[in-house]
Amino acid sequence: MSKKVLILGAGLGGSAVANKLAREFRKEIAKGEVEITILDKNDVNVFQGGFTFIPFGLYTPEDLTMPRKKVISPRVKAVFGRDGEVKSVDLADRKVTVASGRSYSYDYLVIATGCQADVESVPGLSNDFNTFYTSIEDALKLGKLVKTFDKGRIVILTPQMPIPCPGAPGKFTVMLDAYLRYIRGEEVRKNVEIEFLWPIETIGPPAYNQIATKVFEERNINITRNFKLSEVDANNKEVVGADGERIKYDLLITIPPHKGIKAFSDSGIAVEGGWIPVDKYTLQYRGPVGNYDEVYAMGDGSTAGAVKTGIGAHYQSLIVAQNLINELHGNGIKVSYMGELGCPFVGAIYTPSTRGEAHIATWMYDKPLEPFKPTKLGWLIYRMYYYIYWDTELKALM
Ligand SMILES: Cc1cc2nc3c(=O)[nH]c(=O)nc-3n(C[C@H](O)[C@H](O)[C@H](O)COP(=O)(O)OP(=O)(O)OC[C@H]3O[C@@H](n4cnc5c(N)ncnc54)[C@H](O)[C@@H]3O)c2cc1C
Repeated sequence: MSKKVLILGAGLGGSAVANKLAREFRKEIAKGEVEITILDKNDVNVFQGGFTFIPFGLYTPEDLTMPRKKVISPRVKAVFGRDGEVKSVDLADRKVTVASGRSYSYDYLVIATGCQADVESVPGLSNDFNTFYTSIEDALKLGKLVKTFDKGRIVILTPQMPIPCPGAPGKFTVMLDAYLRYIRGEEVRKNVEIEFLWPIETIGPPAYNQIATKVFEERNINITRNFKLSEVDANNKEVVGADGERIKYDLLITIPPHKGIKAFSDSGIAVEGGWIPVDKYTLQYRGPVGNYDEVYAMGDGSTAGAVKTGIGAHYQSLIVAQNLINELHGNGIKVSYMGELGCPFVGAIYTPSTRGEAHIATWMYDKPLEPFKPTKLGWLIYRMYYYIYWDTELKALM
């Protein structure tokens, strides 16, 4: 009997798990002893990390999209569309049902379906929703607004955590300042006020917060921390705080709240917010319907890691894949996820007047982020990363 591994979601984490397993078990797959199947609701991999750069023309849609078939090993059974769109999961029966009505059984299950924006949960937001967070199309639309914005107040609003990559709103804001100042010209920047409304006290870990605060001050970007939102009043172009404070805007850019995938809440296997609960070290399912050692969850859709980032999903995928390899070989070895996470910091972008500066900040459960300075090399690596992502990260080669 062949051993079946079923992976839900062919994004960053799911693709890496599938490719690492396909490499390890090439002989067993050929002999029909191991079967790896990956499901996704669509057939194009979109690199979300690049959305932040799109409004400023630093990447094109072509840079950030790739047919999934090109980045998933042909040894993996890849199913996309209605036959791959997960609708319900029954952990007791080891059964996953998809939109077309078809169902899949498994010996091991990996949940890597990420998370989704929840715009409707913020009163009034859908009446004036501009963002770079949800799709390439939305990021391009925002780019058009930013290109023609000459005067007034831009408010960058993050109503609540968790969001994927909590460093991205800050990175975007630093890029926006540079874009207005050096590409559009100092005159434009002088006429634009940038207000950053942030729902918690710090932007990232203390060392990240320290440098972000300094860069914001230097660039004349106002931060309001611990901002609690009540609603967006689009008619009056105002953001309304929980204490009744009204903040005027001319352009509102919002990072919407996020939640887990509905199929899991509907199946009763998620906790509040739709997140899949896991042991923080083993990444095995520990949830409302019991403990299931053969079920792993990772990345943005799970409770793994302190924050949701692609770098975290990457490290988690290597741990999940290695533990599945050990299980299938029956060698009894276990490896633990030690909380490896990361969030790139951008201090400056490359413009005719400035050199790019960045740092790929990383930390772990027991190893806090150390103070750092963004560098030119960091910027080059960060820019390059978006091109090597397809052939290294998704293939679990780094
Ligand atoms: C604007 C922005 C900027 C970011 N910048 C960075 C950055 O600079 N650095 C960084 O480390 N991280 C960054 N991130 C975060 C990073 O993109 C995510 O952490 C990462 O993609 C999570 O990987 P994942 O595998 O958990 O989920 P994803 O990569 O989102 O993959 C989930 C997959 O599941 C599929 N799926 C969803 N629902 C279903 C369903 N019902 N059935 C079947 N398939 C389904 C989706 O189609 C998708 O392919 C950023 C994110 C955003 C939005």
